[in-house]
Amino acid sequence: MKHYICTGGCQGESKVPGSCEALACPENGKPLTECDCNDGKHKPESKAPLPPEERETE
Ligand SMILES: [Zn+2]
Ligand SMILES: [Zn+2]
Repeated sequence: MKHYICTGGCQGESKVPGSCEALACPENGKPLTECDCNDGKHKPESKAPLPPEERETE
C-alpha cells in the first residue's frame, strides 16, 4: 500500500501526500517521497546493498 516518507532521516511517514513536519529534519518542509514498499523498510527494490556476510573478506 502506497505511503509517503521523508528521506531526511527523521523517518517521517504519512499515508497521504505532504511535507516533512519534523523541525530538526534537514528535509523539513520538503515534500514527502512516494513509497510503495511492503516491508516497511522504504528501500527501492533494486540496488540493495549486500549483507555483510555475503561480502568477500580479504
Ligand atoms: Zn523529515
Ligand atoms: Zn515504504
